[in-house]
Amino acid sequence: MDKYQLLERCYGYRQFRPGQEQLIDGALSGRDVFGIMPTGGGKSVCYQLPALMLPGITLVVSPLISLMRDQVMALKAMGIPAAYINSTLSAEQMRAVYRNLLARRYKIVYVAPERLDYGGFSGVVSQLDVSFIAVDEAHCISQWGQDFRPSYLRITDFIQSLPRRPVVGAFTATATAQVREDIVRLLGLQEPVQITTGFDRPNLYFDVLQPTDKDGELLRLLEGRKNKCGIVYCATRKNVEKVCELLLDNGYAATRYHAGLDEQERTENQEDFLYDRKTVMVATNAFGMGIDKSNVSYVIHYNMPKSLEAYYQEAGRAGRDGAAAECVLLFGEKDVHTAKFLINNASENDELTPEQRELVREQDLVRLGHMVAYCRSKECLRGCILEYFGQEHPETCGACGTCDKEYVPTDITRQAQMVLSCVRRVRDKLGVCVGVTMLAKTLQGSKEKAILEKGLHELSTYGLLSEMGRSRIREIILHLEQQGYLHTDTEYDTLELTRKAGEVLFRGENVTMLVRKEEPLVSAPKKKTVSDGDLTGPAAELYEELRILRAEIAREEGVPAYVVFSNATLVDMARKMPKNTTEFRRVSGVGEMKAQWYSARFLKVLRQFRKEH
Ligand code: ADP
Ligand code: MG
Ligand code: ZN
Repeated sequence: MDKYQLLERCYGYRQFRPGQEQLIDGALSGRDVFGIMPTGGGKSVCYQLPALMLPGITLVVSPLISLMRDQVMALKAMGIPAAYINSTLSAEQMRAVYRNLLARRYKIVYVAPERLDYGGFSGVVSQLDVSFIAVDEAHCISQWGQDFRPSYLRITDFIQSLPRRPVVGAFTATATAQVREDIVRLLGLQEPVQITTGFDRPNLYFDVLQPTDKDGELLRLLEGRKNKCGIVYCATRKNVEKVCELLLDNGYAATRYHAGLDEQERTENQEDFLYDRKTVMVATNAFGMGIDKSNVSYVIHYNMPKSLEAYYQEAGRAGRDGAAAECVLLFGEKDVHTAKFLINNASENDELTPEQRELVREQDLVRLGHMVAYCRSKECLRGCILEYFGQEHPETCGACGTCDKEYVPTDITRQAQMVLSCVRRVRDKLGVCVGVTMLAKTLQGSKEKAILEKGLHELSTYGLLSEMGRSRIREIILHLEQQGYLHTDTEYDTLELTRKAGEVLFRGENVTMLVRKEEPLVSAPKKKTVSDGDLTGPAAELYEELRILRAEIAREEGVPAYVVFSNATLVDMARKMPKNTTEFRRVSGVGEMKAQWYSARFLKVLRQFRKEH
């Protein structure tokens, strides 16, 4: 069977995604391969398909043992003989797996990197014909990456210990130039076929909101999404607790995940989410690496992450099945301080020298700068991300918060003069400069203690912008900074006038700013972004019924729902409404095995539905 037939038979897909074919061909021809594709880009197929076609066995090294079982289940559901080896297996299960391995019953075996060191494992493997070693989440091998795993460094020794060097493949979603170099060098890849597909994820809608009341905004965003799965990321454990509580209070099936919970609770909560028993996961960035849940229809960041790499990776967990999904970041100026604090107080990595540590800190601050620029950007958000990853892009994408909204250039010269003269008056009064918060409060006429104590309410500029919301005042101040009228002292985070400010204050220079046409920010789910791919009327109803059946089957089989079928597959099914097995097979994501196992039950629901409508 050739690769096209296999893709159709096993996976039920008719076309390869960008990059998949080249990587598969590379591995099949005996070359090492290195695939850099965004989350949800379809990396698994790139090593699973060669695994089926190569003569021997394929080992997949993956860092997250809690997910191996699901991945193996998904393979089995497609009729592919697979297994996993990690510390969750009992001694007896382990023996059974080794027995089957020696009997050459598997084509694909997932292993945790730690396992490669165990004598028992190498002993068994050395008796086998290993055709291919695929290293998933390969960025874990680099200290420069975000999820460094020292055990990854031992993969090369393991490869060298094999009687014959197999083809080696590396796969990752994020890799800066430095990390890529590390991957090639540390894994000892030999002139690999290296494919970087575009980073764009067209099915994701991006937005940044700057609400004064994040909790209220979050609840608004979640309205009408009780049945959808999503992740809410927070910067700190405390926020995770708070937000999870908020959602539970408001009737959402929420659960939480952070490093402060004990292992057992973390596993339980993760499984509740993976198995759709809970629909919202509130978590710190400790949650998610390698999470393969394909039906996540939104990722909301309650706080800003520390870098665009981190943001894109976390946000990218939405819509992996290709269905439309939303990524919304709730930005607040306080997030910048939190992020800085986290960077400056990062837990000490003992493997680094003090100089290296300082270097990492500096790099982190640069990365943070890009993240903040994204949050404040008035240009296409998708463009902003792609730009960062060095990819060309059109000026507008039509599917992000800024492309979607209309901005009008507005003359803010008068307000600019007020702000700039306030900066001067405050400095004259206090003898030092202050930051954006204090300035905004003064201009707004706040009666807070901090303002009154400093006597800022006595200034002639106090309360000059009282008709404006605080966030708008901040926006103007930051705009002036961006335009070079103000300068931030990075050490103290205070603002001072630049020479250019004089042009506005004394020589009548005009200042304009883009202001959103319809305030307040509309954040109800937009039509083109609902995750059911625009299903309306009866099709949407049918989709719900198919989901119920899928949940039922998943429960019976003890697997997550997406192992049965992805959301994208159910959407396609609701659209095509197949009448018989042949038509059922034409639904994207329905392979031969799944058709055999599930067609009868789904066709029954479809028949019933047709009768009633
Ligand atoms: P990642 O690159 O993040 O590891 P996965 O391998 O988990 O991505 O794939 C994400 C989703 O895309 C899965 O649901 C997978 O079945 C689907 N997929 C992979 N290849 C194709 C394809 N050629 N056509 C349609 N869907 C695909
Ligand atoms: Mg993957
Ligand atoms: Zn855009």
